[in-house]
Amino acid sequence: MMGVQAATARLFYDFCLDDHVPADHQLRGIDRHLDLERIRAALQPFYSSTGRPSIDPELMIRMLLVGYCMGIRSERRLCEEVHLNLAYRWFCRLGLDGKIPDHSTFSRNRRGRFRESDILRHLFENIVERCLAEGLVDAEGFAVDASLISADCNKRRSLRSEDWNAAELNEEACRAAREYLATLDDAAFGAASPSTPKFISPSDPAAQWTAERKGHAFFAYAENYLIDTDHGVIVDVEATRAVRQAEVGASQTMLERTEERFGLKPGYLTADTAYGSAKNLAWLVKQKEITPHIPVFDKSIRIDGRFSRSDFTWDPDADHYICPAGKELVQFRRTYATPRTGVDADGIPRYRASKKDCEVCALKPQCCPNDVLRKIPRNVDEDARDVARALAATPEFEVACRRRKKVEMLFAHLKRILRLSRLRLRGPCGAKDEFLLAATAQNLRRLAKLRPMSGQMEPIAA
Ligand code: SF4
Repeated sequence: MMGVQAATARLFYDFCLDDHVPADHQLRGIDRHLDLERIRAALQPFYSSTGRPSIDPELMIRMLLVGYCMGIRSERRLCEEVHLNLAYRWFCRLGLDGKIPDHSTFSRNRRGRFRESDILRHLFENIVERCLAEGLVDAEGFAVDASLISADCNKRRSLRSEDWNAAELNEEACRAAREYLATLDDAAFGAASPSTPKFISPSDPAAQWTAERKGHAFFAYAENYLIDTDHGVIVDVEATRAVRQAEVGASQTMLERTEERFGLKPGYLTADTAYGSAKNLAWLVKQKEITPHIPVFDKSIRIDGRFSRSDFTWDPDADHYICPAGKELVQFRRTYATPRTGVDADGIPRYRASKKDCEVCALKPQCCPNDVLRKIPRNVDEDARDVARALAATPEFEVACRRRKKVEMLFAHLKRILRLSRLRLRGPCGAKDEFLLAATAQNLRRLAKLRPMSGQMEPIAA
């Protein structure tokens, strides 16, 4: 006989929410590592001691984490999902009949108390400390990279940069435009590069008009990750304008901040060629004493069959190059009464062969066919580039490059699984908030996967 589901309306139910959340549910693993007591303490000074009780900030943070961990990008939809999903209710400590806050509560708090207290960075750093306590960060090596995330603005509503006048912005401009004005002198935004993009979006002027790998151009921010290459834990995150100078600057900011906050300094840093400028390598090698497993950003390699700089041997003790014909290239061929700096107008010292040697040299067609003598520019930080070049031939470099893929996998996961391929919030602060929450969610998911349910959570010392 075919059964019929009776829709009986019982007056009382014996229902325990905890029993209905599977033991291996991802949110259970995340909950085990989440301790928001310190976050509550950090927010306390930003709430009045009188008046009506506010919505619990812990509830809002738990809901935001559900959204970023589960790839729910809209706050309206997040409220609906938390209302309907038992596991989400359990994670947010809402019970069966707990009231869900209105979606507008999130934007009000984000623009107010959350940004004033920098609570999202506190939250991110709390989770990094948890990763440290669980032994997931060994600081043997870090990897750094940046990925472009589309900004929430439209090309059709943009202006050509010639038609844009930042001086016309005033106090009544939109919030993202006011944030743009406030970051004009910031090395991660306005001061990163003097170049002006082709188009500017009036609704989010800090977003950079850029193209990724020769694809179509779009407005974007750069998300910068510094990760530990052992387990792929994100140890720092930074939002910047999508230009190389800003991304390299962000890598230095993140390395310094990680050392200051957690006492972590990596043995080596691995990154792509964008980070291989002489200045950045010199900072790593001479100032921070970090081994750079980074390909050198080098434009001296010739592909027309002529000798490259690498065909000349550098002798640091004698301060000269030896050319393939065995002749010396030096900075000065005589002693000047007034000592010369040896630096040319472009700020780069040059080493020159002797005109007499080159004139009669059989290798001249391969060396300097159109010049009377060969000149080799040598950057003041060339010694740091030499260190990186020497490392590039070692097996350790191969290993570090393989480990660097972990940061690219994190960006792929962020865009495909967590669905953060386009920002929802505008302005530098919006990008910063979204990147911090996304990095926190990725670290929590990693903690839940690598340190699953076993035992009780040990509190982290304050
Ligand atoms: S042309 Fe001059 S610099 Fe070049 S190989 Fe000959 S001697 Fe050396």
